[in-house]
Amino acid sequence: MPELPEMEAWRRELDEPVSAFPIAKAGPAHIATLKTFDPPLSALEGRRFTGAERRAKRMLFPTADGELVLLVHLMTAGRLRYLLVGEKRPKTPAFRLAFEGGAELILTEAGKKKRAGVWLLAPEAVELELGHLGPEANELDAAQLGEILAGESRRLHSLLRDQRVIAGIGRAWANEILHAAQLSPYALSRDLVPGQVQKLAEAMRSELDRGLELRERGANDARTYRVHNKLGEPCYVCGTPIAQVDFEEHTIYYCPECQTGGRVLKDRRLSRLLR
Ligand SMILES: [Zn+2]
Repeated sequence: MPELPEMEAWRRELDEPVSAFPIAKAGPAHIATLKTFDPPLSALEGRRFTGAERRAKRMLFPTADGELVLLVHLMTAGRLRYLLVGEKRPKTPAFRLAFEGGAELILTEAGKKKRAGVWLLAPEAVELELGHLGPEANELDAAQLGEILAGESRRLHSLLRDQRVIAGIGRAWANEILHAAQLSPYALSRDLVPGQVQKLAEAMRSELDRGLELRERGANDARTYRVHNKLGEPCYVCGTPIAQVDFEEHTIYYCPECQTGGRVLKDRRLSRLLR
C-alpha cells in the first residue's frame, strides 16, 4: 500500500517526464476508475502538465494553463508508471494517457477490485475534493502534533492513519513510526506526556524521511520496513521477536519490549468485540 514516502518518491520520479511533452490522448479509463465525466478526458488533449504534485496519498497533475488538474488516487493496489516508447505496455490498464512523441502514463491495478480512481477537475473542485485532509505528516512539528493529539482521545495507531487528522500515513508507516517513538499502538492520544509527543513528532519526521530515501533508491518493502510484516524477526533495537495483533481491520506489528513494557496486546478486531 503506497503511503507518503512511496507516493513522494513516485512524484519526484514523474515530475519531469510528465511535463516534457503535450498530451496527445487521455484515456481510455476503466469505467470504475474514472470518477468524473465533465470535463471529459479529451479536454486534456493538446495541453501540457506542469509536473507532478502530491497531497497525502494522492497525485496531482495540473495543466500549465491552470484550467485543469488530473487527480489520481492509487488506493491499495494501484501503480502509476511512465513508459517510454518501446517499453512493454500492460494490455488493459485502468487508465492510459499518451504524450506526443509516444511516452505514456499508465495506471494499473492488481487484483479484480477496481478501487483506484482518476478525476479530471477544475482547480476549485480539487480544493473541495481534498479539503477534508489533515496536514501532511512530514511537515508537523511537536506543537502542532500536540494539539492534534489533545483534540480527541483515540488509540495512536488508529489516529495516525486517519487522513482527516494527519495525512499520508497508513498501517505500514504507523507501525514503523510508533516503534521508533517507543509508543504502544493502543496508547490513547491524550495520555501522552510532552516528552512522548516530542518523540512521536521526531519519529514521524525521521521515519518518513528514511522511507522516502529508501524508496527513491528503489528499495522494496522487505528492505524498507523494519517492523511492519516482520512477525517473529528480532527487533532492530532490542532483539525481541516482533509481535502482531489484530486491531480493527488491520494487523499491527510491534515490539513488546520497546513499545508495551513487555505486555502482549489483546486482539481488538471488531468481529471479536461484537461477539
Ligand atoms: Zn524492541
